Formats: sequence, structure tokens, C-alpha cells
Amino acid sequence: MKIVVLPGDGIGPETMAVAVDVLQAVDRRFGLGLQLDHDIAGHDSLKRHGATVTPALLEKVRAADGLMLGPMSTYDFKDEAKGEINPSMYFRKKLDLYANIRPARTYKGVPVRLGEFDLVVVRENTEGFYADRNIESGGSEMLITPDVVVSLRRITRLCCERIARSAFELAMTRKKHVTIVHKANVLKMGDGMFIGECHKVAKEFPEVRVDDVIVDAMMAHVVRAPDRYDVVVTTNMFGDILSDLTAEMSGSLGLGGSLNAGRDHAMGQAAHGSAPDIAGQDIANPASQVLSAAMLLNWYGQRKGKQAFVQAASAIEQALADAVAARECTKDVGGTLGTRETGAAWVKRLG
Ligand code: NAD
Repeated sequence: MKIVVLPGDGIGPETMAVAVDVLQAVDRRFGLGLQLDHDIAGHDSLKRHGATVTPALLEKVRAADGLMLGPMSTYDFKDEAKGEINPSMYFRKKLDLYANIRPARTYKGVPVRLGEFDLVVVRENTEGFYADRNIESGGSEMLITPDVVVSLRRITRLCCERIARSAFELAMTRKKHVTIVHKANVLKMGDGMFIGECHKVAKEFPEVRVDDVIVDAMMAHVVRAPDRYDVVVTTNMFGDILSDLTAEMSGSLGLGGSLNAGRDHAMGQAAHGSAPDIAGQDIANPASQVLSAAMLLNWYGQRKGKQAFVQAASAIEQALADAVAARECTKDVGGTLGTRETGAAWVKRLG
């Protein structure tokens, strides 16, 4: 399996270094034959190539079996004409990575704030309110007059159908419960279509229980009783916000692993951003990047029918859970170790 590795900005190089060590550890243990191809994106690439991402890099990623993308300082990238392209958007759009899978669960050893839970947010990744990816050329935010901005939200039947299918297929491997999160009381057409497509797909999965919740109420419900949820399917921006909340509820945003998957490609990418407030201090939690690596291995193993990759992914998740329970973790989740020491402890557990 050939994986392109792009460490990213801020805490990215620190957390990605741990993810790479963990990948190499499972490669040795499970004989995966991983080939890691290290390259750059974000600020480093802007300095060296005049753009945060380049067409040559995209071609390299297309030819590989997977991508590990570190967090990017996307807020710094304001002008595409100056090469300041949002790398997350670029790969999600160019590789059609429509399903953003973001699990969140509580861990033994991490103080539980709102009760134990284990859920997955399945977020549509290619349209919605994201002005940088929902039209073919240009952006879908317009300055109508100096004092008026219009931002368009795109919802298509195809994208609703395929994200619903990802959610129901995932639910079949879990507790067979899907919750549709929407704002169809106001966005009657767009979210009406989203709910309609979800219910159409649901008919193919009669064993799966389905309910739906309006997004604002969902914030109260999920905080009140997170254990009521299994798979939560929603549109792009709602999923972005909800999944940061559920990651933090599990103990820390630094526990939020995430996979961006399409039909032919996948990208492991932490749910959080580049965290400039803690960058370079050796305190960032590498769990999200490591869990994203495990999700990428699992995706590849399931697609190719290669059990060793699925086992490697489970071994990473188990080692991380055992380590956290033994307080071999960073301070955001109750440990005392730095990023590097945490990574070394996890690698040791993986043999
Ligand atoms: P952030 O997610 O980087 O950080 C939010 C808070 O969570 C901060 O207090 C940070 O210290 C903490 N945090 C994040 N990751 C952590 C980790 N692994 N361990 C411990 N604590 C962690 O959000 P922000 O500060 O709003 O954004 C910073 C930059 O990241 C911005 O430029 C933003 O646009 C970008 N961003 C990128 C992505 C991405 O690349 N996928 C996602 C979100 C934000």
C-alpha cells in the first residue's frame, strides 16, 4: 500500500511524526508492505512551490493507495490566485472524497463529562455551504454590494443519496441505528431533499432503525444523552460543527480521528485544525492523526479484502485505548506525557 504523507501546518509535523511511527510499527508486525512517500503541502509548499498544493502532488496522490493529510492553517489561505488554496478542499473535491467519517467515543481513563458513548458522525464532504467546493469554477460567495454578501448552499440528490448509503452501510456493522440531522423546518427544499433521500435509502436497510432530529435541538440532545446515538448522518457544515462537539465530549478534540472516503480514494485527516496556540510545544495529542491512519488502513483492507490491514487498524485502536487507560497520553486527556513520549509509548505497545 502506497501512502502519500503530508504533515501540514502548526501541530501537523508533530502529530504526523507519531502517526508515521505507528504506521511503521504495524507494518513490521503485520507485514503490510507499506510504502510511505513524504511530501509537503500548506505553508511549506507555498514557500517552496508558490502554492499550498500543486497539480503534480495531486497526480502523485491519485496514483497512490491513500493519503495522510496533516492539519492545515486554512484561515491563512485567503487568495487562490496567490497559490493559497485550501488543501483539505482541494483533495476532497479533486478526489471526490464525499464521505467524512468521524467517530467519537469515550475512553476508560479519560474523565467522562456527559456519560459514556460511542457514535459516528457521517458528514457530506463535497457541497453544502462550503463556498470553495460547491461550484465547478470560482467561489459561491458573492459580494453583491460593499455591504451585502450572498453565500450559496448546494444540495444535490446524488450527494444526499451516496452519503445516506455510507451511513446505512456503516450502521449495519454497528448498532443498526441511523439519526438524520437536518434543518428542514427552514431549509425546506435542500434539507427536505436530504431527508427524502435518506428515507429512500433506508428502505434498502429494513433492519436499521431511523429517526431524525433538527440540528439545533441535536446540540441539546447529544449533550444530554450521547449514548442514544449510533450513526448520525448530516450535511457538510452541520457535520463539521457536530463532530468537533462530539470529539470534545469524548475528552478532547485531539481524539477526533477522521476519514475522507470516496469510491476510489481515501484520506486520513485529523478532525481538528493546525492548533497554532499549542504548535511546537510537544503537547499536542497525536491520537486524532493516529486514529485517522488506522481508519485509512481499515478502508484499504476492507476494499481489497486484505485482512492484515483490518487487523492492523484494530491493533492501533486497541493499543491507543489501552495506553490512554494507563495514562500514557497527553495532558488534554489527563496524562503527563509530551507528544513524542506518547507516540513512543504507543509504538512500544504495538511491539
Ligand atoms: P483547531 O482545531 O486548530 O483548535 C481548536 C482548539 O483545540 C485549540 O485550543 C487547540 O489547541 C485544540 N486542539 C486542536 N487539536 C488538538 C490536539 N491534537 N491536541 C490537543 N489540543 C488540540 O481550530 P482553530 O484554532 O480554530 O484553527 C486553527 C487553524 O486550523 C485555522 O487556520 C483553521 O482554518 C484551520 N483548520 C484546519 C482544519 C483542517 O485542516 N482539517 C480543520 C479545522 C481548522
